[in-house]
Amino acid sequence: TSAKVKAPAETPMLRQYRAIKAQVPDAILFYRMGDFYEMFFEDAEIAARVLEIALTTRDKHKAEKVPMCGVPVHAAEGYLTRLVQAGYRVAVCEQVEDPAAAKGLVRREVVRVLTPGLLTTEGGVPATANNFVAAVRPGAGEAPWGLACLDLSTGEFRVTELAGRAEAADELYRLEPAEILVPEDEDGFPAEVRRVLPSLFVSTRPPEWFEARRGVRLLTAHFGVLSLDGFGVSGLEAGVGAAGALFSYVEETQKGDLSHIRALRPYHLSEYLRLDEATKRNLELVANGLDGGRRGTLLEVLDFTVTSMGGRLLRHWILYPLTDLAAIEGRHAAVAALLEAPAARADLRARLRRVADLERLVARVSLGTASGRDLVALKKSLREVPGIRDAVAETAASAPLLADLLGGLDPLEDLVAVLDAALREDCPLQLREGRLIREGYNAELDELMAIQRDGRAFIAGVEAAERERTGIPSLKVGFNKVFGYYIEVGKAHAAKVPGHYVRKQTLVAAERYITPELKDVEAKILTAQERRLALEYELFQELRRRVAGEGPRIQETARALARLDVLAGLTEAADRHGYVRPRVNAGDAIDIRDGRHPVVERAVEPGTFVPNDVRLDDTGARLLILTGPNMAGKSTILRQTALIVLMAQMGSFVPAAEAEIGVVDRLFSRVGATDYLARGQSTFMVEMSETANILHNATPRSLVILDEIGRGTSTYDGLAIAWAVAEYLAEKDGRGVKTLFATHYHELTELAAQRPKVRNLHVAVREWEHRIVFLHRLLEGATNRSYGIQVAALAGVPGGVIARAREILANIERDELNVWGEPRIAKTRREAKAPGVQMALPLFPDGESALRRELLALDVNQMTPLEALQRLAELQARA
Ligand code: ADP
Repeated sequence: TSAKVKAPAETPMLRQYRAIKAQVPDAILFYRMGDFYEMFFEDAEIAARVLEIALTTRDKHKAEKVPMCGVPVHAAEGYLTRLVQAGYRVAVCEQVEDPAAAKGLVRREVVRVLTPGLLTTEGGVPATANNFVAAVRPGAGEAPWGLACLDLSTGEFRVTELAGRAEAADELYRLEPAEILVPEDEDGFPAEVRRVLPSLFVSTRPPEWFEARRGVRLLTAHFGVLSLDGFGVSGLEAGVGAAGALFSYVEETQKGDLSHIRALRPYHLSEYLRLDEATKRNLELVANGLDGGRRGTLLEVLDFTVTSMGGRLLRHWILYPLTDLAAIEGRHAAVAALLEAPAARADLRARLRRVADLERLVARVSLGTASGRDLVALKKSLREVPGIRDAVAETAASAPLLADLLGGLDPLEDLVAVLDAALREDCPLQLREGRLIREGYNAELDELMAIQRDGRAFIAGVEAAERERTGIPSLKVGFNKVFGYYIEVGKAHAAKVPGHYVRKQTLVAAERYITPELKDVEAKILTAQERRLALEYELFQELRRRVAGEGPRIQETARALARLDVLAGLTEAADRHGYVRPRVNAGDAIDIRDGRHPVVERAVEPGTFVPNDVRLDDTGARLLILTGPNMAGKSTILRQTALIVLMAQMGSFVPAAEAEIGVVDRLFSRVGATDYLARGQSTFMVEMSETANILHNATPRSLVILDEIGRGTSTYDGLAIAWAVAEYLAEKDGRGVKTLFATHYHELTELAAQRPKVRNLHVAVREWEHRIVFLHRLLEGATNRSYGIQVAALAGVPGGVIARAREILANIERDELNVWGEPRIAKTRREAKAPGVQMALPLFPDGESALRRELLALDVNQMTPLEALQRLAELQARA
């Protein structure tokens, strides 16, 4: 938005407004005027619409009308948040000198700029997810890309480097930042990222901002260190460049103290199980495919955390499973220890429930936005720490990780004692209304309180004393804003009023008086009140600075509490859902006995989920080909295998009777791609580019799940591609990539005969009176039937049509030809007849009818029952 410059006789205020607006041309300017923030011109029009507030005009009588609207300062945070959430940048401009002392126009400055990535307000950011702003420094040619991310609401600041555009896009998708900062000359990159994160808020800064040298200078100054080596970022030139740009961006937009940003944590992709964009989405780890919500996700099933900090960390653990064996086993040992101590665990969780979001609290303390209630919440939270320590101590003996976390728990008794002595528990949200500080904390404040109290007591006594003295029983003492305290006497008693009463106001039936004594006491009360408010505010700020000074200890404790919450939550999930501790090792096998899908098992009737074994050997079968009709449970097995591996590596127990997991480096998935249509991309293209990614990047340590690859093209093309892909994966790098391959191409099962590392499995169904019953059981060997017709019958396709379909199928099968009248590629049932025999379909005597062509073009195996039904209905309607 930009204010149009065309005003002949502009007021000084409007001139100042324009000058400030010119500094932040792309932001909506909240211009402070007394108790309001005002917006003008186009800003006012936008804000009025988004915030649903009245649009008025300034200088109504003049020809040049200026549209304006405003929000009261005390309610501004809510309005700011709404504008930002609606996708606008907002600049807050304050009066930076005392209006009373100002000569002429009050000086004003922009004190902070808010964007989706820079929100810190409660309600403005999700409680159980981080709110990241990420900076990306693209690498030219082969150079690495730098990526830094910062959650201003917690101080979390991380940096990494990536091998190229695709890796950067995947990592951004994993982080899901609310905002991204890129060099302004880089136009290609945001477009690329937009593909995966369409609603991402993009900000740009000059390319110089992203220079490593600049980053080093800024960050060493902020952290008060001579070099960044202590953070382990030496060598990460691109990363430090991005981190520097990000830090300047935050510094520029937030004039507050950033001391809660206390470290820059480098990480490397190889420390974590790598998940690309498609895999994160397909496995529905933290968001479902339906509406992006939590329902039906792994996160929902595993989330038994009771604090917001734990909620955020659990999300992080799910998206960043580990690859370090010792670290993984450390988490498992902690869960095992907590599982064996249910009473201590219950106690721990009950106490954690009473712990506030200390990470965000510390951030608010630093940024200077923490209220009295925040500090009370801090105090109450810290009071839980000793009890939490006791509970953890009971379990720590058998789990070094718990012992470690125990060491990180600091009850900060010294700080709690100060807060206890200083803060009133019932303090208000506002800081300028007093009632923050307890009596007995500060001698001067006590004195002021005493003056107020004595004064009030005196005034309370005046009424009785004066009634007695004057003999006027209806005499009253009252207070109003204009006169302060006064004595009111009914007109009937006017004669009895003493001479030293000074008349101040005449009402219909009464007169109001003051006395010098009353005014004297009143003045004392009011000055005391004023001084008290100022002093309480000062003392509170002192307290807040004191808390900020303890920031590192609180943050360390918060980290430990968050970890305990997640570990106790994972234990709770293991306990309630019947998970077991996986055996994780450095080998290359995956061996799951009676594995279950953690989400599907909770969605079906309790006790009806059918567990299955999946074994991928380090020496034997590396690629499993899964066949079976639609709805048999193929995708479920694929996903559950991937999810079990992921759960094991994030430190969770797993839904199986037993599981051995050789640590996996990357998870790949290629499953249905329906949601691409909405993004305007060809399903087949997306499928193939995802497949290409897998073929290039999967290693023998990776796990790949492929569901019905090659669907998006003609049957033969598709089969050919699927075949070649399976072959390649089975042999890649000599050892083959651990792969589960679900397919409708029964011909593919031939591969097992040719390749020792390929094994066929099928999901069993039982036929019963022309119907099928899904057993959901995975068995050895291939199946050669798709039961498409039975599935169609289950879906309610009319009996006549089903019977006819059976007949046609029988014809086709008898001739061993496909529907085009060509020989089948693989002779899965009997010997094929000589090729070239044209098949007769008596349903269509006139050979090439359009209906016939259409019907033949249908691939029944590839349709859902619903699609089949719809197509049939259409054909019927035209017959
Ligand atoms: P496919 O991929 O073979 O078409 P799905 O894996 O999508 O089949 O499974 C279809 C449905 O069958 C699932 O939504 C679930 O309700 C049910 N199902 C799948 N596997 C099992 C199982 N092992 N036990 C119980 N129900 C299952």
